[in-house]
Formats: sequence, structure tokens, C-alpha cells
Amino acid sequence: MRGFLQRFQYNMMRFMSGRYGGRDPLNFTLIGLSVVLDILFMIFRIPVLTFAAIIPLGLAVFRSLSKNTSKRYEENRKYVNFFKNLAALRTHHIYKCPGCHQKIRVPRKGGKMVEITCPKCHEHFRKKI
Ligand SMILES: [Zn+2]
Repeated sequence: MRGFLQRFQYNMMRFMSGRYGGRDPLNFTLIGLSVVLDILFMIFRIPVLTFAAIIPLGLAVFRSLSKNTSKRYEENRKYVNFFKNLAALRTHHIYKCPGCHQKIRVPRKGGKMVEITCPKCHEHFRKKI
């Protein structure tokens, strides 16, 4: 039995070498979504939910076994940044400079009018923050 487990572990390590592995927030979200959809299926017995649950699970498995690690890393980085930016919108305004269209993040201050200087082109413009 021990020999079988060691062989299995060795073969799994060989199979997974060079693959992404998928221990990242995007995969955890996909697996969590699949579990939630399956639980909803068990409660409400809507057949389409069990098929819908397969899609995020299949994506998570695909990402885990993928050998294109740079692309999987980039997908995860975009996913994490999306939620970081969403959280930043609660505490900051994001304006575009009228001169060069550079995005500028300004902390919220309860409706005060302030003059903003673009750090890229040094254009001045007034905004309510
Ligand atoms: Zn500018």
C-alpha cells in the first residue's frame, strides 16, 4: 500500500510539474461559485443550476492543469486588481486629466471643490471631491 501511494504521489508530481496548479484567488472563487450553484441546485432542484455549476468548476480545472502559466498568472492579476480598484472607489475618486487623459486618483473629502494638478502634464483643473 505504501509503495502504491509513493508511486501515485511521484506520478502526480511528474504530471503537475510545469502546470499552473491553480492555488490563486480566481480559482478559489470559481470553485466557490460552483459549490454555491450546486447547493442552490440541491435546495431548489432547478436542473439548469447543476449545468451552470460545471462551467466554473471546469474553468478551475482547466486553469489548474494549464501549462501556459504566464497567461493564468495574468488572468489572476487582472481579477485581483479589479476588486482592489472596486475597493478604492469607496475611498477615492478617479478623474481623467482633460489635457493628457491620465487617470488620477484623488481621496474623497465630502464634496469640497479642489484644484487638481496632473502629475504627468501639470495641467490644472477643478473638481468636487
Ligand atoms: Zn495630464
